[in-house]
Amino acid sequence: MHPTTPSIERTITVPFAHRIYFTRSVFSPQNRLLAELVSRPASGSPPKALVVIDQGVALAFPKLADQVAAYFAHNERPARLVRSPLVIPGGEAAKNDPELVNELHRQIEQHGICRHSYLLAIGGGAVLDAAGFAAATAHRGVRHIRLPTTTLSQADGGVGVKNGINAFGKKNFIGTFSPPYAVINDNDFLVTLPPAEKRAGLIEAIKVALIRDAAFFEEIERLADNLVHFETGAMERVIRRSAELHVRHIAESGDPFEFGSARPLDFGHWSAHKLEQMSRFAISHGMAVALGLALDTLYSHRKGMLSCTATERALTLIQKLGFSIFDPHMQQTDATGNWLLLDGLEEFREHLGGELTITLLSEIGRGVEVHEIDAGLMRESILELARRSSLQPTGS
Ligand code: NAD
Repeated sequence: MHPTTPSIERTITVPFAHRIYFTRSVFSPQNRLLAELVSRPASGSPPKALVVIDQGVALAFPKLADQVAAYFAHNERPARLVRSPLVIPGGEAAKNDPELVNELHRQIEQHGICRHSYLLAIGGGAVLDAAGFAAATAHRGVRHIRLPTTTLSQADGGVGVKNGINAFGKKNFIGTFSPPYAVINDNDFLVTLPPAEKRAGLIEAIKVALIRDAAFFEEIERLADNLVHFETGAMERVIRRSAELHVRHIAESGDPFEFGSARPLDFGHWSAHKLEQMSRFAISHGMAVALGLALDTLYSHRKGMLSCTATERALTLIQKLGFSIFDPHMQQTDATGNWLLLDGLEEFREHLGGELTITLLSEIGRGVEVHEIDAGLMRESILELARRSSLQPTGS
C-alpha cells in the first residue's frame, strides 16, 4: 500500500475458551454438568435451549428425547427447553441437504433462540457439522453445545472448531470456523454403534499419533488386541488422548482458523475427502481416512522420506484394527485416462487456498509438510496398495 494512503489498521484479538468435558450418563438427573453449563444467570431473561438429536441416536436410544425433557424439567435453574428434542437425519445426508440447515434456522427463529441461548446437538460428526453451521450463522452465532455420539466425532471432528455442509459435490464447501460453547463426550453413547462406526474413531487416533506422538502410536500398537474387540478401557483411553492431541493442536498451533495454506492434522485427508465424494459416500469418512493414511504413508516411503520399518508398522496397525488399505475407487479413471483421485489434490489446495500443502511422514510421530506431489509415484503407491490388499486392479 502506498505510504500516503490513509488507513486504519488494528489487530483484533478474540480469546475463545475451548472446553471439552468427559462424562457418562449426561442426562441422568444426578449428572449436573450440563445443567451448570446452561444455568440461568442471576439476572436478565433466562436462556433457552433447543435440542436436536441425530436420528440414528434417537433410534438406538428410544428414551433419550424423554430423558432430555425430564433433565431440563427437573434440574434446578437450567435453560428452558423450548420444544421437545428435534430428531434430524443422521450421517452424511445431514450435510448433503441444505433444507436441513434452513429448518434449523426456522426453529431458532420460531423459538426465539438468542445469542445467549443454546443449540445442543447430539449426534455423529455429520449432524454436529450441520447443526454447528446453523448455530454459527443464526444471529451470526448462537451458543452451540456438542454431544458427539460416535468414536470419530469424540476423537476428532466433534472436539474441533469447524462446521459445515457439502455443496456442489464438494465436502464442507459451506461452513465456518466457530468454537462451540462446550463439547461433552459421553462414553455411554458409544455402546450402540455398529462395529464399523466403533472402529472409525481409531483411525483419527492413528492419524494424530503418526504425525504428532510416537509414544501414543506405540500405545495404540500395545492396545491393538483390546481395541480390535472394542474393550471399553482401551477405547476410552485412545479416544481421550486423540481428542487431547487434536485440541492441543487447535489451541497451540497458532492457526486455529486455518488462515495459512497448511492443515497439518489433515494427514491423508486430501484423498479421503475425494474418495468419499467419488463413492457417493458409500466409503465412510473413517474408511476413507484409513485409505488416505495408507496411501500417504506408502508415498512418504517411496519418496524416500520414511523408513521401511516405520511404513510397515503404520500399514500393519491400520490393517490390524480392521481397516482396508485399498479400494477400487482409488484407481478410477475418466475417459482420458486421468486418475480421478489425483484431482483431490487440487480440490484440497483450493479448499485451503494458497500453495498446495500436504502433510507426509518423516518418521512415526513426525509429520512434514510438502508442496509438491509426484503424480507418477502416487499412482505407483496406489498400485502397490492394490497388490498388498490382494485386490485386482480395476481401472474404469
Ligand atoms: P456420522 O455422523 O456420519 O454418523 C454415522 C452413522 O452413525 C449415522 O447413521 C448416525 O445416525 C449413526 N449414529 C451416530 N451416533 C450413533 C450412536 N451412538 N448409536 C448408533 N448410531 C449412531 O459419522 P461420524 O464418523 O461421526 O462423522 C463423519 C462426519 O464428520 C463427516 O461428514 C466428516 O466430514 C465430519 N468431520 C468433521 C470434522 C470437523 O472438524 N468438523 C472432522 C472430522 C470429520
